Parts: sequence; structure tokens; C-alpha cells
Amino acid sequence: MEVLKKLLNAEGITEFATVDFERLTVINPRLLNGKPGIKSAAVFLIPYRHAGMKEGGGFNVGLFARCRDYHLYANGLFERIIPTLMAETGGEIYGYADSSPIDEKGAAATAGLGFIGKNGLLINPVYGSFVFIAELLFTARLEEDICHCDGGCGECTACVDACPAGALKGGYTRERCLSFISQKKRKTKEDCEVLKANKTVWGCDICQRCCPYNKGAQFSDIAYFKEGFIEDFTPQRLREMDDEEYASFAFSFRPRAVLEENFLTASGEYDIIVS
Ligand code: SF4
Ligand code: SF4
Repeated sequence: MEVLKKLLNAEGITEFATVDFERLTVINPRLLNGKPGIKSAAVFLIPYRHAGMKEGGGFNVGLFARCRDYHLYANGLFERIIPTLMAETGGEIYGYADSSPIDEKGAAATAGLGFIGKNGLLINPVYGSFVFIAELLFTARLEEDICHCDGGCGECTACVDACPAGALKGGYTRERCLSFISQKKRKTKEDCEVLKANKTVWGCDICQRCCPYNKGAQFSDIAYFKEGFIEDFTPQRLREMDDEEYASFAFSFRPRAVLEENFLTASGEYDIIVS
């Protein structure tokens, strides 16, 4: 679909595909209430890693957390492109990113935009795993135009071996993953111990940094993720953030107190807490 290609390319998005909606897995039908007749989906990847983005501040913090919130980016993108697409296709178009009626990772794999690696992430041949997934759902029927990806992990076990929490042994176990644990509101003593041992504050990229598919991966051209990027995320940097800046990051779905506690835990200055 030429107009979709033109609109997405102008935004710095090059990895996308159109796929029949029936082929995708609906995991949250509630989000489709009042939106009958969806026939097609355009699934696309939003790359966020720019050249020069490195670990910083001495804590384990995921790159995605130090970039400004992609949910806000996606909402802005939908506002910019949906009116033009509706004029082209007719019918309704609904945009989603993260909070979606469909299994987004599965949809991206079905659309041929990558494969799901042993680290549980979608790996795209061009951008590696440093991508967010978003989609537009159309009531119009679009011609299916999927990509082809024949990559895979093969014999590689780099991420399984590198994960300090053993979260990838025998498949991905969310409850053991530092990224999941760091984002919990209430943490057990064991949670705190594992965060402290790995100096983890929010998210974790260890199983991405070691992945060979990310070594030569292309960087993002989307300026939004570079602007406002937190170079060194430290307790002081958090204290310096005003409420407006705090709200511009994805971790703001938790109150500051959770981040502050995580910093204290990761620094070994705070022996916690509750279960
Ligand atoms: S994000 Fe970190 S803790 Fe979670 S699976 Fe990857 S390496 Fe392991
Ligand atoms: S590090 Fe190796 S095993 Fe893990 S996702 Fe990447 S290619 Fe697959």
C-alpha cells in the first residue's frame, strides 16, 4: 500500500507489513468492543536505539526506559497518519501500541518482520531487537503484503548464558526477569536481593546487548528517541526531573517512590521490605 509506505517512511519507519486480521491472535477482545468489522492490520516496528546510546550512570537500566515514552510517540504518530489513511481506504482505523487487542509480538512474526528469539523478543533482521511494535487495524480490506524473515537463533545461546537471573533457562520465565521485577510495585525480599546483586533499577538489556543480531543492527532515524534521552540515569538525575519530564518517560506509570526505592536497593543503601 503505497500511501502507507510513504507515510511511515517519512516518519523513519521502514519495517512494516499488511496482514489479514483473521491470521492474528486476539488476546484482549475487550479492546475491540464497539469496533466491529476489522479485516486487516498494518503491523510496524518503531526503532529506538540511536548511535551513541550507551549504558550510563553505573546502574542496569534498559535503553527503552531512558528514551522518552514510546506510547506518547505512537499516539502522536497515529494522529499524524490516520486521517490520510482513512481518506485513502475509507472505513475506520484504530491504532495500538503495547496495550493492544492482539498479540503484537506474534503478529509481527506472522507478518514476517522478524523471529522470536530465545530471549523472548522479536528480532528484526535490520534493527535487531531494539524496536517497539505498533499496529493499525482497518475495517477496510487491505491487500496482504507480508515480509519474509528466515533468521533464527540456531545453536546460539548467548542470551541464555548471559542472563544473570536465569530467566531464559528452559524458555522465558517472566517472574525471574529483572526487567519485570524492577517494574513491580511491591517487591519481595528475594526480588530486592536480585535487583541489588545486578544493580538493576528499571528494565534490563543484558540479553539484547549480547545478541549477535544487535551487533551490526541499524540505528533509528527517529529524532524523538534521541531528544530527551537520559545519558546517566542516577538518583540525582531522578531528583532533578520535574513532573512534566517525569511524565514523558514510560516508567511514569509507577510513582517516583518506586524508582527511588529501586535506586536505593540497587545501591545497597536500603534493605527492604515487604512481601
Ligand atoms: S531482561 Fe535481563 S533478566 Fe530479563 S531475561 Fe533478559 S537478561 Fe534476563
Ligand atoms: S543471543 Fe543468540 S540465542 Fe539469544 S536471541 Fe540472540 S541469537 Fe537468539
